[in-house]
Amino acid sequence: MPLPTVAIIGRPNVGKSTLFNRLVGKRLALVDDQPGVTRDRREGDATLLGLDFRVVDTAGFEDEDAATLPGRMRVQTEAAVQDADVALFMVDARAGIVPLDEEIARWLRATDTPVVLAANKAEGRSGESGVLEAMALGFGEPVALSAEHGEGVADLFTALLPYLERDDDEPEEDAEASDAPLKLAIVGRPNAGKSTLINRLLGQDRLITGPEAGITRDSIAVDWTWSDADGAARAVRLIDTAGMRKKARVQEKLEKLSVMDALRAVDFAEVVVLLLDGTRGLEVQDLKIADRVLQEGRALIIALNKWDVAENASSLFNGVKAALDEGLAQAKGVPLLTVSAATGKGLDTLMRVAFETRDAWSRRVSTGQLNRWFERALEANPPPAPGGKRIKARYVTQVKTRPPSFVLFGTRVDQLPESYRRYLVNGLRREFDFGAVPVRLTMRAPK
Ligand code: GDP
Ligand code: GDP
Repeated sequence: MPLPTVAIIGRPNVGKSTLFNRLVGKRLALVDDQPGVTRDRREGDATLLGLDFRVVDTAGFEDEDAATLPGRMRVQTEAAVQDADVALFMVDARAGIVPLDEEIARWLRATDTPVVLAANKAEGRSGESGVLEAMALGFGEPVALSAEHGEGVADLFTALLPYLERDDDEPEEDAEASDAPLKLAIVGRPNAGKSTLINRLLGQDRLITGPEAGITRDSIAVDWTWSDADGAARAVRLIDTAGMRKKARVQEKLEKLSVMDALRAVDFAEVVVLLLDGTRGLEVQDLKIADRVLQEGRALIIALNKWDVAENASSLFNGVKAALDEGLAQAKGVPLLTVSAATGKGLDTLMRVAFETRDAWSRRVSTGQLNRWFERALEANPPPAPGGKRIKARYVTQVKTRPPSFVLFGTRVDQLPESYRRYLVNGLRREFDFGAVPVRLTMRAPK
C-alpha cells in the first residue's frame, strides 16, 4: 500500500521548504546546498509519532518570480494536491494574509482534498495577529507553527493525523469515531423504564461480553459489546446515570433529579437516548431534557418505551410526534422509536440508529463538497439586503465535528436574519445527511 501523502502548499517564502526539511530530516536538508538536486527532489519520506508518510514540497514548482499562481506552478501544484491525502496550506503569520494567500485559499476550497492550515513563523508573540487573521481563510483555526524553531510540530501532527491513518474505510467520518466505543446515555423521567432497558441491553443474547464475563464497571460507565445485524462487534460505553445518582444529594426531588442525571450524563455521552413511558406520552419535563441535550450539542434519540402494552399505538405515536414538533422546534426530525425494554422489541433498531446517529454527529464534509452545495443554496435563495445593503456570503467551512460546526464567511454576514441561517442549516442537514443531530452555523464577517 502506498504511503499517505501530504502536499505542502503556500505562496513563496512562507517556509514550506524549511518545514519540509524538518519533516524529512537532516539527510535531505543537505540537498538545499546542492542546487540542481533541490529542484527535482521535492518529495521525501517522513516518520513521526510512528506514522510514515510522504511529503511533497510544492516550492519546487514555483516560478522564479511567482507573484501570482499561474502556469507551471499551478499545474504542478494542482496535481500534487489532487494526489495528496491532505494539503498542508502554509501562510506566514508575521506577514499576515496577503491577496495571493486568498487566491490559493479560493482554489483549495474548490478541491476535494482536505486542507490543514498552518500559520508559520509564529514563534514568540510576533505572529499572534497573523494567526488570527488566517482564521478568515476558512479552514478553521490554523496550527501555529515555527518550522525554523520546531515549535508547534506536535499540534501539526495532531491536525494531520486523521488524514494519514489508513484502514479508515469511512473517510468521511472522523477516524476516531468509527472504532471508539459509542458513548451512550439513557435518560428520562422516573419509571420510564431506564433500568429495565439497561438490564435488557446488558442481558441480550447478542451481547458478546456479558456483565459476568469481564465487563468493566465503574461508577459512571459500563463497557460492553453490541453485535450488529451483520454480526460485527461494536463497542459501547453505557453512561450509567444510576451510578451518578448515588452521588447526587438524595433529598433532591425526583423530577428534578432526572434532569440533573441527564445533564451529568450528557457531559460524557455522544448519543443520548431520552426514554419515555410511551403509554403516558410526552410531558413538559421530557421537552426540557431534550432541549438541554441538543443545546449541549449532543445527538438525541427519543424512544417510546412499554410499547408492548400501548393501546391505540398509532394515535399515541402521532400524538407524541406532534407534541414534539410543536414544543421543541430544534428537535424536529429527531429519531422517534418505539421499544419495549421488557420484551426486547425494537432494541436492535435502537442500537443501529444510535450508531448511525453518532456517525452523522462525527461526519466531516470536504470544503469542496460544502461549497458546491453552498453555491446552489445561494442561487436558489439569495441572501436578503437589509437596508438596501448587499450581504456578500462568500463560503462555508466545517471547523469542527461532534457536533458538526460550520462557519460562514463574508461581508456583513453577521447581519443575516435568523430565518436565513435556518435555511442554510436545514440545507446542510439535508444535503449531508446530518439527520437531526445538532448542526451549528456561525457567521463571521471579517473586519
Ligand atoms: P518557501 O519558499 O515557502 O519554501 O520558504 P523557505 O522555507 O525557503 O523559507 C523562507 C524564509 O523564511 C527563509 O529565510 C526561512 O529561514 C524563513 N523561515 C522559515 N520558517 C521560519 C519560521 O518558523 N520562523 C521564521 N522567523 N522564519 C522562518
Ligand atoms: P426507571 O425508573 O426509568 O429506571 O424505570 P424502571 O426500569 O424501574 O421501570 C419502571 C416500571 O416500568 C417497572 O415496573 C418496569 O417493570 C416497567 N417497565 C419497564 N419497561 C417496560 C416495558 O417495556 N413494558 C412494560 N410493560 N413495562 C415496563
